[in-house]
This record gives sequence, structure tokens and C-alpha cells, in this order.
Amino acid sequence: MRRGSVYVLAILILFCAGVQRAQNAPGLTVIRAGTLIDGTSDTPAHNKLIFVRGERIEKVADAGAAIPADAKVIDLSNATVLPGLIDSHTHMFLWGEDPAKGGYDANILKAGIALRAARATVAVRRALEQGFTTLRDLETEGAGYGDVEIKEAIAEGTIPGPRLFVVTRAISTTGGYNLEGYAPELVMPKGVQIVDGPVEARKAAREQLDHGADWIKVYMTHRSWLDRQGNLVSQPTLTVEELKAIVDEAHGWQKKVACHAYNGIGLQRALDGGCDSIEHGLELTDANIAQMLRQGTWYCPTIAVYFGDWGPADTPGGQRDRKRAEVHEPSFKKALAAGVKIVYGTDIGGMPWTTTPEAIDFGYMVKYGMRPMDAIRSATSRAAEMLDMQGEIGVVAAGAYADVIAVAGDPLRDIAELEHVRFVMHDGAVFKNEMGK
Ligand SMILES: [Zn+2]
Repeated sequence: MRRGSVYVLAILILFCAGVQRAQNAPGLTVIRAGTLIDGTSDTPAHNKLIFVRGERIEKVADAGAAIPADAKVIDLSNATVLPGLIDSHTHMFLWGEDPAKGGYDANILKAGIALRAARATVAVRRALEQGFTTLRDLETEGAGYGDVEIKEAIAEGTIPGPRLFVVTRAISTTGGYNLEGYAPELVMPKGVQIVDGPVEARKAAREQLDHGADWIKVYMTHRSWLDRQGNLVSQPTLTVEELKAIVDEAHGWQKKVACHAYNGIGLQRALDGGCDSIEHGLELTDANIAQMLRQGTWYCPTIAVYFGDWGPADTPGGQRDRKRAEVHEPSFKKALAAGVKIVYGTDIGGMPWTTTPEAIDFGYMVKYGMRPMDAIRSATSRAAEMLDMQGEIGVVAAGAYADVIAVAGDPLRDIAELEHVRFVMHDGAVFKNEMGK
């Protein structure tokens, strides 16, 4: 072949490669947002255009900006557009556990892993349908490393679901988790990995991190009851020494530790051991709050779940259930006033996925004094910060993943609007559209 021909051929190959690239470049979608709550700003914006290419937001512009002729336009000009929501406390492997059907124990003793996985696929789809495009799922309750695999199934496109941060098995101590109450000679399965001593604690954290845990979940309190004076008491589980081994290990992997802690000794140990987030935190003392501020500890209160399934009022269990909900309100208010970093979490799974609106906790947070915009931030940019995903999720801005939702009304006037999400885009793909033509 003569040199000239080689030259022409090379140009032709380069040209074809260019055409190929142009054909493969993701198309542009432009969302017209009537009102935009972007997840970080304190006030909403109006008449904005959100340019989405591939899985990311390319830019956010004023309504007058030019829209290329080949762009797909989604008209949400009569809606309020927000970033996809983040629920920082879920259990995809719990199913509401109706006590009439055997409660928590039946889920482990009678439901096989395939049945539980099938239910989990419904749970994650339900979350996405309701506008929750990211979940921090806080343990599989006896379903092993199933959460890592559900996450994988979502990532490979096999099932629809939100972006997941998972913790796998979670950790507690002997006497610190269900199943319990069976004959002592029976070795019962447990809903968590049981450890005793700092060596076992560190080993469990290593195993869980090795098998794909994004966070580590630790139970720092277990049973709770009322003492003679009517105060809420919680049984502590891990020692500070045990917790420190876990936190040290997790932090070395640049991962964080979420601690279930109701109050008292266990909650104090959670803080002294260096937990990154306190889950539930039903009863926080002023000293607890001061320590959380000092250490930058996140607070994920999960309020609504403590208003369900109360035992009868004249039983010790029923009185305990009422006390839990009662002490939670002043704790939340004090933490809010003090400026503790609060993230939105529901504990859904503890409430049925099929009937509970995942936005259920917003109403409680606002009722307890949080401004609606701050409640929205707790489920968007604040949660993103906790998850080390600042600027990537929980915000409608250039460069972020295109997780965009919309509601018909104004959630700043009525926060319950968030229970009726009509449009969901996740990673740039429209998952649900009941309003934008
Ligand atoms: Zn939980």
C-alpha cells in the first residue's frame, strides 16, 4: 500500500471512531422546574432548567437558556422539583413483622433466604417509587450479606432500586440480640453477629468490611424497661473497649460506624467509643448533646416507628413503649436547638414497607420544631455529607448524580406533600412520571 493510501485510511478510521463516539454519547434531557428546592439553598428558586446528560446533572440554568433541538424535555413547570431523598435508616430485609404472624422470630425461623430476598426487592422498589433514591440500610437481620447482593443486583440493572449503603450483619454481644427466650440448650440463630471482647469485635468488623460493608452497625443498647421511678432504662451491650476496636478498624478502612443507642450507659459508651452516628437516641442528656457537638456525631432519630405497635397501656411493655415516644420529643428538640447534625431516617422495615409512607418522619420532625427546609435538607444534602457524598447526591447542581424528584404542591407549606412523589429520576433515568409530559 502506498503511503498516501495509508494516510487516507488512517483519517477514515479516526473519522469513524469520532462518529461512533458521537452516537454513543448520552442524549440530553432537560427538566423544566417550576419551583426548585435544590437541597442546599435556604430558599426555593423558580423557573429553572436542569440539564441532564447520562447519569449526571450537566448544569442548572434559568428558564431563558437555549435548549438544543435534539434534547428531550420533561415539563415539571407546575411542580416542585427536589433532589432524590435519602433515608439514612432502613431495613430492606424486615417486613413489618406482624406480631399476629409470629413477629420478628418468624422472619428468621420460617422465611427462607430466597423469600426474604424477594421481599427485599419489593422494599427497594417501593423506596425508589416514593422518591428515595439513596438508602443507608442498617443491617439484614439474619439475612447475612444479602444487602451486598441486592446492591449488586441493582447496580447491574437486574432490579430497580436506590443507591445503597449497606452494613451487612451488624454487631452486638451475648445477651444483646434476638432470637432469645428459647430453651437455653438450644443454639438459636441471631439477627446480628455476636461478639465478646475486643478481639472478636475487631474480627467481626474485618469480616463485614471484607464482604462489602459500606458502614458498620453496632447495637449499643438492647432491652429497655421502666425502673421504679418510671424512668426509661436500656441494657448496655458492648463495652467502650469493644466498640473502640470496631471504630478503630472501620475508620482505618475509611468507613463509619452507626450505633443503635436509646439512652443511658449504652449511649454514653457509644459516644465515648467514637460512634459516627447515633441511631434513635431516644433520651439525650445535655451532656450527651454537648459531646455529640464536640465530636461531630450525627443524630438519626427515627421518630415515627416509636408510635406504632404499642403494648396495652396497663402492661409494663406498653408503658415502656409510651415512655420511649414521650422522651424522644424533648431529646429531638434539645438536639435541634443545640445544632446537632440531624439526618432523616425512618427505620422502615420495622414498619411495613407495603403500607408505610417512607416520608412519614418528615411530619414528626416539623411538628417537633424543625423548619420544613431543614427537614428536607436532613434527607438530602445533610445526609449526603454524612455519607461522604457531598455534591454527588442530595443536591440538584452541576456535577451531581441526576437523582431528581417532583411533587405537585409546596412541601414547605405542607411537608406531607413528600408522601406523594409524582416524578422520580434516578441516575439520569426516569423511573416514574405521573406529571411531566
Ligand atoms: Zn433499625
